[in-house]
Amino acid sequence: MLQTPEFIFAAKSVLLTLAFFVFAFVQSLVVLYTPWFSGNRIQEKKYKQGLLWKRMPLIGLNAFLIIFINFFGLYFGYSLFNHGETPEFYIIGAQILLIVVFDDIYFYFYHKFLHENKWALHHIHGIHHQAIMPFPMEFIYVHPAEWFLGSFGLFIGVIIAAILGSPVSAVAFWLYIVVRNLHETDIHSGIKSRIFNKIPFIAPAEHHDLHHSRPFGNYASTLLIWDKVFGTEVTPEEVKKGKKA
Ligand SMILES: [Zn+2]
Ligand SMILES: [Zn+2]
Repeated sequence: MLQTPEFIFAAKSVLLTLAFFVFAFVQSLVVLYTPWFSGNRIQEKKYKQGLLWKRMPLIGLNAFLIIFINFFGLYFGYSLFNHGETPEFYIIGAQILLIVVFDDIYFYFYHKFLHENKWALHHIHGIHHQAIMPFPMEFIYVHPAEWFLGSFGLFIGVIIAAILGSPVSAVAFWLYIVVRNLHETDIHSGIKSRIFNKIPFIAPAEHHDLHHSRPFGNYASTLLIWDKVFGTEVTPEEVKKGKKA
C-alpha cells in the first residue's frame, strides 16, 4: 500500500500542507516575539504572546483532522487528477483559477451563514473570532466542525474544475496548496500586505484583519469580488465613519 501511486500522491500533498503549519508557527513566533514587523502592523494594540500556546491544543487537533481528511480524500480521489505530463503553464493557471473561484465562493457563503445564524456564530464561528488581532497560526484556530465544513471547499473546486475542463494536474493542485496557504497565513498575519495587495481582485491582509477587528462584512477570503457583488464589503474608512455592513 505504501508504494502505490495513490498513497504517494496523498502523502506528498499532506506533507506540503504540514509544511505550511510549521511555516505559520514560525511566522507566529516572529510576529509575537520579535520587533521585526512591529512598524508594519495593521492594528496597534499590544499582542498577548501567551495566546499562541493557549491556542495550540485546538490548532493541533485541527491540523490532525485536516491531514486525515485530505489524505483519505486525495487517496480515494486520485483519479480526479492528471498524474501524467505537466501541462502548459496557462492550463495550470486556468486550473488553479477554477479551484480558487469555487473553493472561495463556497467559503464566502458558509462563512456568511456562520455570521447570520446567531446560534452558529455563538457556538461555532465565535471561536475563530476570539482572534480580534490575529496572528498567522490563528488561520486554523477554528471550531473543528467549521474546519471540517471548510475542508470540502478544496474538493468542490477540484471536482468542478475536472467537470468543466479536464482532470486537474497534480502540479497545479500542489501550486494551489502553496498559494492558498500563503494567502491564509498572510490574511491572518496582522501585517500589512506587501504582495497580495498588488494583485488585482485578491484580498490583502487588511480586508480579513478588519473582519476580525469587528466581525461584520468582508466575508470573502481570497477574492474581493464576492463582497463587492453581494454588497458585504466594508472598508476602514467606512468603519471610521461608524458604518456597519
Ligand atoms: Zn480569519
Ligand atoms: Zn468570520
